[in-house]
Amino acid sequence: MKVLIISDVHANLTALEAVLQAAGTVDAVWCLGDLVGYGPDPNECVERVSSLPNVHCVKGNHDAAVTGEGDVEYFNDEAGSAILITRELMTQANIQYLKGLPEILTLETATLVHGSLRHPIWEYVIDSQAALANFPFFETPIALVGHTHLPMAFIMDDKNGRIHRRTFKPNFIFPITMKTILNPGSVGQPRDYDPRASYAIFNPEAMTWEYHRVAYDFQAVQKRILKVGLPEKHAIRLSEGW
Ligand code: ZN
Repeated sequence: MKVLIISDVHANLTALEAVLQAAGTVDAVWCLGDLVGYGPDPNECVERVSSLPNVHCVKGNHDAAVTGEGDVEYFNDEAGSAILITRELMTQANIQYLKGLPEILTLETATLVHGSLRHPIWEYVIDSQAALANFPFFETPIALVGHTHLPMAFIMDDKNGRIHRRTFKPNFIFPITMKTILNPGSVGQPRDYDPRASYAIFNPEAMTWEYHRVAYDFQAVQKRILKVGLPEKHAIRLSEGW
């Protein structure tokens, strides 16, 4: 079984299409939230992801803010103004779709959240300390998180309970042998100084995690960002991936 793992699409349809094409035929798609915010294509991204076959998606902090469930004051100026513009752009049906997303999804092999297991919407699992605090909050072999936009893994050592933080080179096939928290990175706004869209392929039978990057036409997205009046910063950062 081949499961495409995507997160933090952030209304970037060009990056999303590049990922869907690069991933090829998959059996399921698991999406870790933040379909919208920052980017120019919120309706298109919601409609594209929600109509994929066998898709499971959880709610991100930007999704919650757009629906009015999360407070815009928690965001910095440029992120906050993107939330307000996104609300204007979106159809009621698509806002309702975001509203209906669960904060946490427990599947057979994996628990899906946007932020962290104990605080699904807002906490960042960014270092070993945050990962350690979150391991008691899931029972499945792996947990999948997004939110930091940084592809990495936190592995709990069976023997001593220590956390190993790992990053992978693209195309590397990582065999999952211990309880692990994995982050596929961001499709629509990578922040590791690699502008290519980030995603992963999980195989629940083989218990393998393949992490990938794919280039996309970010200049086309930059033009659309400026056209709809989103802050220029959200266009500039796509060139370098920050
Ligand atoms: Zn995000």
